[in-house]
Amino acid sequence: MSATAENTFDIVILGGGSGGYACALRAAELGLSVALVEKGKLGGTCLHMGCIPTKALLHAAEVADTAREGQQFGVKTTFESVDMNGVNAYKDGVVGRLYKGLQGLVKSKSIEYVEGAGHLVAKNTIEVAGRKLVGKNIVLATGSYAKTLPGLDITGRIMTSEQALFLDYVPARVVVLGGGVIGVEFASVFKSFGSEVTIIEALPRLVAAEDEAISKQLERSFRKRKINFKTGVKFSGVTQTGDVVNVSLESGDTIEADLLLVAVGRGPVTAGLGYEEAGVTMDRGFVLANERLQTNIDGIYAVGDIVPGLQLAHRGFAQGIFVAEQIAGLNPPVIDEMGIPRVTYCDPEIASIGYTEAQAKAKFAEIETYDYSLGGNGKSQILQTQGFIKLVRQKDGPVVGVHMIGARMGEQVGEAQLIYNWEALPSDVAQLIHAHPTQNEALGEAHLALAGKPLHAHG
Ligand SMILES: Cc1cc2nc3c(=O)[nH]c(=O)nc-3n(C[C@H](O)[C@H](O)[C@H](O)COP(=O)(O)OP(=O)(O)OC[C@H]3O[C@@H](n4cnc5c(N)ncnc54)[C@H](O)[C@@H]3O)c2cc1C
Repeated sequence: MSATAENTFDIVILGGGSGGYACALRAAELGLSVALVEKGKLGGTCLHMGCIPTKALLHAAEVADTAREGQQFGVKTTFESVDMNGVNAYKDGVVGRLYKGLQGLVKSKSIEYVEGAGHLVAKNTIEVAGRKLVGKNIVLATGSYAKTLPGLDITGRIMTSEQALFLDYVPARVVVLGGGVIGVEFASVFKSFGSEVTIIEALPRLVAAEDEAISKQLERSFRKRKINFKTGVKFSGVTQTGDVVNVSLESGDTIEADLLLVAVGRGPVTAGLGYEEAGVTMDRGFVLANERLQTNIDGIYAVGDIVPGLQLAHRGFAQGIFVAEQIAGLNPPVIDEMGIPRVTYCDPEIASIGYTEAQAKAKFAEIETYDYSLGGNGKSQILQTQGFIKLVRQKDGPVVGVHMIGARMGEQVGEAQLIYNWEALPSDVAQLIHAHPTQNEALGEAHLALAGKPLHAHG
């Protein structure tokens, strides 16, 4: 079939998740003709199975805890129970409204939205149900899936986040396999909903990608919340009998539970899509791209979770926008992966940007660090939360890492990322005025202290 005008575009994008749809929207804004191919739901993992539904569950969890803890604020509340049908209706309502809005947005931008499973059949062609879409440029954005371990089948009461998002009951006992971001977020939700939770993590600490001090504080907080965890321990097997799972560990321990949540990471969705056949260089299923997100094949780009690096929606958005601008000839500045903010939404929340202390020590000649305890922050005391803000700077140089833990600290990552990305000195931030009493003030205070003029800081 020869390429007809209606099947020829400036860009053909495979996958309508965060990376793919952001690329489509920006390309359309720039006057490029775009086809966006999606086999499932526009919005992808983030909107339907990831960021949005999990954060709705976490908010419901916070409401449950608030009901339980009214007494400490002198308010007589009682926690009765969690109605999962109600929780799911609330969560699905949020997702549904955003989905509708996104569909409208894509429609309004004259993007050719093509439903169906696409396949790269030539270096400039995606085929969907026999229709060949020819692009001057191709953007691969097929995202990721929940991985499991060899021999560990996802079935019945052994599930990944995909099934756990749709539970219609609160399990009494849950084992969470994996103490990374997704694992600790679900552990936090289940605990607040009333489950007894045990996290199994093979690495020596929870959220091992974060600064070590953050992991320690999270572990202290989880202990206080009576969330059980075993670190440095490997899973060896599981049996499922009726409604009960028995999880065994290499240490010889076994744990009986009603549900095993497997949260061992996400793999790229790239198998069987024609990428290798087109000659695209891959590594263990990931698509390799340079800093301008070009693959080794001229005119083929890749964005989002299929590109090695942080698997985050806002990285996908940024990469999608970048590629559209790159194709439009705007020569956008390359994305600094260290400058991408990271938030883990468990209770307490974790937010960070830039280098951990260990990474900074390896990268820079000399560094300084400072920990500001939320104990000195009025608003955090009002909220009754504990935690700290840790700053890492190059000696006599800019701040290269900000690491925060405590209730609602995710909201502080906006300023933290400006500080990192604008290479601010502690003295630059110290002279900016932070409103009192806010948790944001703690960021200001940490920089005051690191600039040598602490205010509400002990030690
Ligand atoms: C439980 C969970 C919680 C998360 N929470 C957060 C969070 O709080 N913050 C955050 O930033 N990130 C979070 N993430 C990660 C975030 O969802 C991903 O980083 C993001 O969705 C990646 O975007 P993407 O475009 O690369 O891929 P995806 O969103 O996975 O989109 C890829 C799309 O491609 C489509 N596709 C695949 N193959 C084909 C094909 N052959 N033809 C047509 N279409 C195809 C898929 O249907 C999908 O819609 C979370 C993820 C999970 C699982």
